[in-house]
Amino acid sequence: MKSLVLEKKDVLSLRDFPAIDRAEQALGPRDVRIKLHTVGICGSDVHYYTHGRIGPFVVNEPMILGHEASGTVIETGADVTTLAVGDRVCMEPGVPDPNSRATRLGMYNVDPNVRFWATPPVHGILRPTCVHPEAFTFKLPDNVSFAEAAMVEPLAVGVHAATKARVKPGDIGVVMGAGPIGLVTALAALAAGCARVYVTDLAEKKLEIAAALSPAITPVDVSREDLVARVKADTDGWGADVVWEATGSPKAAAGVFEPLAPGGCVVMIGGQPDPISYDAGAAMVREARVENIFRYAHVFPRCVAMLSSGTVDVKPLITRTFDFDDSVKAFEIAASAPPADVKMQIELPQ
Ligand SMILES: [Zn+2]
Repeated sequence: MKSLVLEKKDVLSLRDFPAIDRAEQALGPRDVRIKLHTVGICGSDVHYYTHGRIGPFVVNEPMILGHEASGTVIETGADVTTLAVGDRVCMEPGVPDPNSRATRLGMYNVDPNVRFWATPPVHGILRPTCVHPEAFTFKLPDNVSFAEAAMVEPLAVGVHAATKARVKPGDIGVVMGAGPIGLVTALAALAAGCARVYVTDLAEKKLEIAAALSPAITPVDVSREDLVARVKADTDGWGADVVWEATGSPKAAAGVFEPLAPGGCVVMIGGQPDPISYDAGAAMVREARVENIFRYAHVFPRCVAMLSSGTVDVKPLITRTFDFDDSVKAFEIAASAPPADVKMQIELPQ
């Protein structure tokens, strides 16, 4: 069984990986075996490929990539009750220790012992099959495609970010950054009730994609237009109720409070490898609330429900699909950061 293996920084190969086949021979009583169908390429997968590490997580041994996945259940453990062979599913990639303090408090995503696909030393799922707990595997309605289901993982980040902001109907939002996470955050913000969401970027093509998602999204090209002036002009000088920072750029993050209304909320989404400056004075005079998110918790079923009902449409974000045989090429293209692409996906042979 071939897997897409990151051998070390800059070196990918499609090859057999007997260790994972051996490790997953046995199926636990509460586990299911899944035949993978579609896997999205995440910025984190690409970052491990091009840098060999993300912060403290270092690729010291060959690691299988991929964590945004959908597939079909092909075998169920003896005690599995909610899933059956043939069910189409998507999977939450982070499995916490059920007995940890964080998990018992309901914040399993910040369990220090969470095992998350394609985060060293845990392997990802760009391989034909995987074994996963029933509790983190979610059945898909017939009208949600495998491609949409593989978007649930990034969408979950946006939904968690909207939840943390406590969006109220009619709120004005700003999303900084029109990458995949910025765009799913804008979609989640609208689904949560925002009347308007300003989406910023420097790449014209990404802003075109953003604008096409909804008439309630206003693209702002910050290379040409002043975001703060625009938001203030449209809100009688008041500002936006929520600002989501999804660029991971220290420069953008330094300005997060400027477009924010008094009493507003800033949600930091973009990863910052180094400490960044923070305008405490600007936050203070607004009594700004600041939230940070780490992945997500308890939102996969909500995302599936929104895709099924049509509340959220992620299809326009899927801009390219590759065959599994071409997955090394797919990563080379993804690493070149083509401006017209949002989400690239890989389809496994069925
Ligand atoms: Zn991801």
